[in-house]
Amino acid sequence: MSNTAERRLDYVAIRRYEARMELRLTNTLTRRKEPFVPADPKRVTMYVCGPTVYAHAHIGNARPPVVFDVLFRLLRHKYGADAVIYARNYTDIEDKIIAAANVAGVPIEAITRKFEAIYEEDMGALGVLEPTLKPRATEHVADMIAIIEALIAKGAAYRVASGVYFSVAADADYGKLSGRAQDELQAGARVDGEDDKRHPSDFALWKAAQPNEPAWDAPFGRGRPGWHIECSAMIEKEMGSPIDIHGGGIDLIFPHHENEIAQSETAHGHGLARVWMHNGFLTMDREKMSKSIGNIITPRELLDQGWQGEAIRWALLSAHYRAPLDWSEDLLKQAQASLDRLYGAALRLKDVEASTAEPPAAFLDALADDLNTPAAVAELSALVTAANNAKKPAEQAKAKGELLAAARLLGVLQNDPQAWFRASFSPQVAAAIDALVDERVAARAAKNWAEADRIRDALAEKGVEVMDGPRGSTWRRKG
Ligand code: AMP
Ligand code: ZN
Repeated sequence: MSNTAERRLDYVAIRRYEARMELRLTNTLTRRKEPFVPADPKRVTMYVCGPTVYAHAHIGNARPPVVFDVLFRLLRHKYGADAVIYARNYTDIEDKIIAAANVAGVPIEAITRKFEAIYEEDMGALGVLEPTLKPRATEHVADMIAIIEALIAKGAAYRVASGVYFSVAADADYGKLSGRAQDELQAGARVDGEDDKRHPSDFALWKAAQPNEPAWDAPFGRGRPGWHIECSAMIEKEMGSPIDIHGGGIDLIFPHHENEIAQSETAHGHGLARVWMHNGFLTMDREKMSKSIGNIITPRELLDQGWQGEAIRWALLSAHYRAPLDWSEDLLKQAQASLDRLYGAALRLKDVEASTAEPPAAFLDALADDLNTPAAVAELSALVTAANNAKKPAEQAKAKGELLAAARLLGVLQNDPQAWFRASFSPQVAAAIDALVDERVAARAAKNWAEADRIRDALAEKGVEVMDGPRGSTWRRKG
């Protein structure tokens, strides 16, 4: 059979497999793991609540963008890169931002633009792909006003002195996402400055203008939006509801997502999202990582300590997204060791040309099972073993292709293997290792085997293994 015909068969097999690969996702709304069927496979839509940009994100905040980045990659693989529209917003108007701007004596944009840039840099370091859309709340105020007007017209929202509120009593379904019964909600939390709302569970759609706060004109009075209406408006404007998937951290189920549902569905008369997905908490010593508790570590701090972004990412994917994940230095060390093993295999096969760009079925099945990253990581490990054991060129070419393709879906192993190992030493130490390896190459060329062995042993003592190949010598850190 000709090469082209073979490749054609390969292609057909892949398409057939993809048609079969059933993606199953746990839907918070139905409390079940169910097959994922997009409304339109040519236009799959996903929205994930993004950061409130007033401070550095911590690694707990990084869990949702990393987890949903893997889902984004899987959806693109299944439906095609151009068929997936993924929006991750910036909450750039909110109480904490206003407070930070007032403390610093600057306009809110000075705070929000700075922390947006830092966030993008951090996400880049963690290997997070650019979402298709990155809407800002401040650029959608007119869309928020339109929804609020529709709610007032329907009698589901009312205006009082402190602002405009959504009337929870107007929504018979209220509580369906979080499973809270209406009478449980009767108690409701008291919020400062909201004494004039009619019911404790009613929530602010619009907050009346205050001195020292940014404000926009609206038919129902000058003011600024509440947090929940921001996401409803961005989803509607950017993608149109219902969207296929809406995600975020588990703490957003109530009240944020419950309120998004209430206001959007009441205004539009149809569902907001078909599948709701929530990641579990990142904890430290079993306690939720959060700014208010003060037990936070930022990606920036870890990068400054010399950890590589890819190791942080791997650590974040080491638990199933719905389970809690307890952060520790040990977790990072294990991540680093696993990636060393992956890059070691890639380095060994660096001169081999990959013969496929398709991950094996077992790996895809693991990921398609509600994004089971621990199972996917185990499959990846098996691929490393296969790559290390492959002897024949054709086996090596296939093993390398499968390993790289699978790793790409997890967002790892896409860098130069030598650069990976160099980056775990200081530039000075890496340069000294290079020099020793060069000396050894020269000793071997001069057939000075004793000197070559002496240098190899000296490097081994530093934890460095020299790998001699047909096209020269490279090195890696020993596990
Ligand atoms: P925030 O900037 O506080 O609005 O949070 C941004 C995202 O991070 C939200 O989706 C939160 O649910 C999520 N998040 C916050 N803390 C944690 C944590 N400790 N573990 C996992 N996700 C978190
Ligand atoms: Zn949101």
